[in-house]
Amino acid sequence: MPKLIPVITEEEIKEQISRVAKEISKDYEDKKLILIGVLKGSFIFTADLSRSLSIPNQVDFVGASSYGSNTSTSGEVTITKDVGLDLEGKHVLVLEDIVDTGLTLIRIIDYLKKFNPESVKICALLNKHERRTADITVDYECFAIPKGFLVGYGLDYAEDYRNLPAIFNLEE
Ligand code: 5GP
Repeated sequence: MPKLIPVITEEEIKEQISRVAKEISKDYEDKKLILIGVLKGSFIFTADLSRSLSIPNQVDFVGASSYGSNTSTSGEVTITKDVGLDLEGKHVLVLEDIVDTGLTLIRIIDYLKKFNPESVKICALLNKHERRTADITVDYECFAIPKGFLVGYGLDYAEDYRNLPAIFNLEE
């Protein structure tokens, strides 16, 4: 049976989202901001961050699949859901649940740039620096984490555990 080891509490998630939301609200004051959540893992993060911002913001989602139900990256990333909003001339902030190798984000950013946004930046709930292979900059991060396979607060293992309110390490 897999074991769930607590890593980040609900309270800590709230605190860090509130801290990052303040930074973003300041940086994007007087700008048209569109949040793009990366499905499915970012759906809860996107809802919470959007509501924590003190500036107006619009929300859309992009679908990307990289892992399937395994715990290691295949390196092949496909866009499974297109954005619906018009991004031309807008400031886009991509919300990613967890950045690991960075390959998913590279693909998503390339895809979003085709719509001629004014700017594209990245906000990550969890930033796993250790396994980074892609050359990307995470502009805003809630938590830096070294390793492990995390579930909860939107993150899944084979579609389970997304509904957990806190974040856990899944150990076999
Ligand atoms: P990357 O392309 O940066 O290697 O991987 C990013 C994607 O892989 C994330 O959006 C997430 O879907 C998945 N992923 C990476 N690490 C983890 C993890 O620890 N737990 C879960 N549930 N998914 C992960």
